[in-house]
Amino acid sequence: MTRKLIPDNICHLPHFRKRTEPIKYIIIHCSRSNPSQQLETLNRLGLSVHYIIGRDGNLTEALEINKVAYHAGTSKWNHSQGPSLNGSSIGIELECPDMGQHKKSYPHRQIMKLCELLNYLLLKYKLRRENILGHSDIAPTRKPDPGVGFPWIKLYNEGLILPHHKNCLHPSTDEIFLLDTIGYDTSVLPAARYAFCRRWLPEEVIIEDDLQHLLDNPYPPDFIPQDYKKYIKRLRAIAVAYEQERRLHFWYEK
Ligand SMILES: [Zn+2]
Repeated sequence: MTRKLIPDNICHLPHFRKRTEPIKYIIIHCSRSNPSQQLETLNRLGLSVHYIIGRDGNLTEALEINKVAYHAGTSKWNHSQGPSLNGSSIGIELECPDMGQHKKSYPHRQIMKLCELLNYLLLKYKLRRENILGHSDIAPTRKPDPGVGFPWIKLYNEGLILPHHKNCLHPSTDEIFLLDTIGYDTSVLPAARYAFCRRWLPEEVIIEDDLQHLLDNPYPPDFIPQDYKKYIKRLRAIAVAYEQERRLHFWYEK
């Protein structure tokens, strides 16, 4: 039985629809404002999210899981159907005043609370860890959150990210094929590249202190990784991990 996770606050937002599809994804966001301001803004804009975690690790339940929240917007992953992942996802918003632009953007206790929540959700809803994604992964042309400073490594250390080996490589070297195999929408290639680098090759990403500029321009329109060879090697390592995991589940779930 899954241990119950008790939120510190419950403050349900009024904007939602009934959930009719199974839950598959967990989407991580960040916002510059504090949790009570976030609730106000989401409410004003007719949007919603399931959970908000403050920098102090305080967890707010903003919507019940059996309701669809409006958090993902136009989004795609792994050839998903439909214009948005809202219907098949859980949305988690993190308070982060610098939009995850630095290594220390996210305090330890905030990330530990996130890991506790992710562990709870994975077990309770039988979700797969490769489907824990950042907003920028599923909307690479529109969104920069949770930012290049988001500590994916801490999630990895908690067993919440697929393990990969840097020398276990996919046989293909075709960039678009590899991005596509992982799940990225490659219709705007520089955006997909940049989203991949945000998560897997942060040294290629520009740290942006002008946050409005970052929000208006989530990716450099002509982006090509400087160390292209290293980029392709990292793509091959991640693609093989995703492909193996999906194949495994395909056979188990048959
Ligand atoms: Zn977002």
